[in-house]
Parts: sequence; C-alpha cells; structure tokens
Amino acid sequence: PTNHQSNRHVAAVHSFGKVPLGIKRKGLRIVVTGGAGFVGSHLVDRLIARGDSVIVVDNFFTGRKENVMHHFGNPRFELIRHDVVEPLLLEVDQIYHLACPASPVHYKFNPVKTIKTNVVGTLNMLGLAKRVGARFLLTSTSEVYGDPLQHPQKETYWGNVNPIGVRSCYDEGKRTAETLTMDYHRGAGVEVRIARIFNTYGPRMCLDDGRVVSNFVAQALRKEPMTVYGDGKQTRSFQYVSDLVEGLMRLMEGEHVGPFNLGNPGEFTMLELAKVVQETIDPDATIEYRPNTEDDPHKRKPDISRAKELLGWEPKVDLRKGLPLMVSDFRQRIFGDHKEGS
Ligand code: NAD
Ligand code: UDP
Ligand code: UDP
Repeated sequence: PTNHQSNRHVAAVHSFGKVPLGIKRKGLRIVVTGGAGFVGSHLVDRLIARGDSVIVVDNFFTGRKENVMHHFGNPRFELIRHDVVEPLLLEVDQIYHLACPASPVHYKFNPVKTIKTNVVGTLNMLGLAKRVGARFLLTSTSEVYGDPLQHPQKETYWGNVNPIGVRSCYDEGKRTAETLTMDYHRGAGVEVRIARIFNTYGPRMCLDDGRVVSNFVAQALRKEPMTVYGDGKQTRSFQYVSDLVEGLMRLMEGEHVGPFNLGNPGEFTMLELAKVVQETIDPDATIEYRPNTEDDPHKRKPDISRAKELLGWEPKVDLRKGLPLMVSDFRQRIFGDHKEGS
C-alpha cells in the first residue's frame, strides 16, 4: 500500500468508535461483494450511515435488490450486477468480500460454481486489492472446522473436513480462500483480515433459505411443522446479524489479520431452538423429524476469547432477544404488507 493508503487507514482506525459516526472523518470508498445478500446488506447500512461511499458488487444469486433499494438515489451508493468469478476494475480503499452463497441448500445447488466463487472470485478480489492497495476482508466460516473434534473451536484448531463430500465445495472452498488471502498478504503485502463467521440469523434472510432458523421461523408462522433433521441433538451457536456486522467493522478497522471467530457462544440443540421458536411465535407449533443431511457437523460453538481481547468485541444480542426482531420481518414478508427488508 502507498503511504496515502495507509494514512487513510490510520485515520479510520483512529476515528472508529471515538468520533460520532460519520462526523469529522473523510469517507472511504468501500466495495462490499455480496452486498445485496443477508449479511452484506446490513453491513452496507452501517457503512453508509458512517459516511462512507459503498459499491455493492452482486450477481443476485441469493441476494435481492429489495435488501439495498432504500439506498437507491444516494450519491454515496452504487450497485453493480457482476459475478466475482470475472475480473473487475475499481478504485477503492477497502474490500469486504462476502460474495458466496451461505445456506447449504444454495451452495450445494451448483457446487462447481460455489468452488469457483470461493477460489476464482476471491483471487480476483485479492488481485484488485493488490493493484489498488486496498485493505481486504474475507468472510470465512466456522465450516472450516468441519465436524470438529475440539469443542468449543479456537482459531488455532485446523479442523476436521471431508475433502470429497457434498459440503466440500463450501468448506474446502473457504479454506482455499483463506490460503489465498494469507498468500497475498505474505507474498504481495496486501493488508488482509479474516473472519470466521458462525451461524448468523436476522431480518432479510431468504424465506426459502433452507437454513435452520429461517426454516423454523417461516414454518411456525405458516402453521407448518418445524422440520428437525436427524435426532435434533446436534448443536449450533446462533449470532444476531447486528453483532456480526459490528465485529466485521472492528476487524476491518483494527490492526490484526486474524483469523477471528465471530459468533455467539450460546449453544443450542436443534430441539432447543425449536422450543425457543415455539415460545416466540406459537406455543402450539409442532415438530416433524426428517433424515439428516450428509456430513452434518455434530456440534459447533465458537471460542471468542481472541476477538474479545484483540478487537474488544463480543455479541450483545442473545437468541431470545434477537429472534423476535427476525420474526417481525418474516411476518411482514410472509403475510405481506410488502415491506421488504427492515
Ligand atoms: P447470502 O446468500 O444472503 O449472501 C451472499 C451474497 O453473495 C448474495 O447477495 C449473492 O447474490 C452474492 N453472490 C453469490 N455468489 C456470487 C458471485 N459469484 N458473484 C457476485 N455475488 C455473488 O449469504 P450471507 O448469509 O449474507 O453470507 C455472506 C457471507 O458470509 C458469505 O461469504 C458466507 O459464506 C459468510 N458466512 C455467513 C454465515 C451465516 O450464517 N450467515 C456463516 C458463515 C459465513
Ligand atoms: N484482478 C481483478 N481486478 C484488478 C486486478 C486483478 O479482477 O483490479 C484479477 C486478475 O484478472 C487476476 C486476479 O485478479 O485474475 C489475480 O490478479 P494478480 O495480479 O494477483 O495475478 P495475475 O493477473 O498476475 O495472475
Ligand atoms: N436443520 C434442521 N432443520 C432444518 C434445517 C436445518 O434441523 O429445517 C439442522 C441441520 O441439519 C444442521 C443445523 O440445523 O444440523 C444447522 O443447519 P443450517 O443449514 O442452518 O446451517 P449449517 O450450520 O449446517 O451450515
């Protein structure tokens, strides 16, 4: 990076969290790939509110214009329909690289495309970062730990991943994306950041997403049985989207490469999750057992001590507080006063 570039970043680091958002601070030019998706659109909201200029790059595979439509007409917002598998020329200061389907149903739909997005797409965005001296943040995943033999998972754990399974396009893809990120950092001096995101939920998730929280919430609202895969004793740790976005921004503005686990350590079995959804939506909601999917990780829970210590970050919204916020968004979209997003 040029001195000019690093000065901009020092300014950003200095002002983050100290000056009221969007004040006394030169706006950055930021690309958010996958910015029309669930997490990306919430991140875009925060960056725009902070006073930055944001370019969303998205191919709309799982993303929707509705998620970012409220920024149309803002001169600091731009939306480009583009597939990151193809090269892209832009001049920017920071790149948040989120483009990749995240739900198992979506990433298994076209596994070769998923691998290309993770490998070629990440390579292109790193090439872009190198050319313009931008800082690059990769949204990796807890799936890099596979079906973990360590519990909870620390960043130092190398994982237990099947390289030839039906989930490999995603978890091995993200592992390769992490490798590329570190090699551009070591080999080309690109400033990089790596987040390993654990299961996240919130408003704007696709209704037909296939992920467990969106499935249970949509099913309970529609008075359909909640589909529990396997015996329902497998665990996940669910993070509310605003906590994740705060973590991603602190990571980008901070001085540490990572990887950092970003997740909520509150761990639930799928049966416990179904219970919380019942309490939140409908005490009479029923469950129905279905066969589990192949290579489903048995348990997952982040050790977040590194992020706590080095980023001063920890989640604030637990499942019982976050779920109702998502439910009101889903209610509106299912029963339709057509107010998309929220
Ligand atoms: P999402 O599916 O809602 O968003 C992904 C976005 O990327 C969509 O807008 C989609 O259209 C876009 N996209 C996909 N392939 C693309 C391509 N080739 N070119 C351009 N755009 C493309 O998923 P999300 O939950 O918002 O996840 C965002 C990122 O966070 C992903 O990289 C995902 O792997 C990571 N992540 C999410 C979670 C989670 O629980 N939400 C957990 C771990 C990691
Ligand atoms: N790339 C891109 N935008 C840029 C610079 C590079 O999309 O602004 C792509 C480029 O097409 C290449 C990849 O990023 O496929 C890696 O670029 P790099 O310069 O690191 O490697 P090289 O082009 O030498 O293979
Ligand atoms: N799951 C479930 N019912 C559903 C969808 C998923 O019981 O309708 C289970 C799934 O088998 C897994 C867990 O919920 O054990 C989390 O799945 P999800 O697809 O949300 O995310 P993952 O962590 O597997 O990527």
